[in-house]
Amino acid sequence: MGCALGALLLALGLIAAVVISPRAEFTLGGALVNVGYRLQDRFSEYNFEHDETITPEQVWEELKDQNELAAGVRGLFPRTARHPVVAILACMDARIDTSELVGDTRRYYYIVRTAGSVLSPAEQEMLELAVLNGVKVIVLTTHTDCAAEAAAADPQLREKFPALIGLMDEREQRIEEFKARPVIRDAIAEGKLLIKHARIDTSTDKLVVETADHQAH
Ligand SMILES: [Zn+2]
Repeated sequence: MGCALGALLLALGLIAAVVISPRAEFTLGGALVNVGYRLQDRFSEYNFEHDETITPEQVWEELKDQNELAAGVRGLFPRTARHPVVAILACMDARIDTSELVGDTRRYYYIVRTAGSVLSPAEQEMLELAVLNGVKVIVLTTHTDCAAEAAAADPQLREKFPALIGLMDEREQRIEEFKARPVIRDAIAEGKLLIKHARIDTSTDKLVVETADHQAH
């Protein structure tokens, strides 16, 4: 009885908070999304965690099944179309959840992900395209405990992955190259585009913003 009353009061409190405050609603939304993730975490059969005997075909079939399941759920809750004004370059490290970086803001931003956040000419074009599509802020991130950074410091891995390591060595140079592209340079000069640098704390998704003249190494 006491427990039910407590739950009722909690529910009423949450509803009141949501009605009173958009911020509370945003926070609650993010928390609910996380509740969903945590609920899903319990079911290892959906985690792509298997013994090594699983074949690529079986993995592909599983991926398709899960997509069907997820798309079915999504179909129940269609989203409105939003036009991103932020683009984020992030490492492909799976521990970084780009949907959680700024709260639950899926589709609020474009995401470009590469190992070590390297910025080859192809990614530069992707980000430039995003700017042409209305992006006003680009966040160039790196992150703690990065495997690509570790590889760049390992002589054997340097030899094994020369293209990636080459881009890692040129990371800052490539950023300067990107900023010097005419569209990007003009957009910055006209006050239409900001480029920020940040390092993500991999364990918390916290963005530590770096000043322009101190880029991540
Ligand atoms: Zn990384």
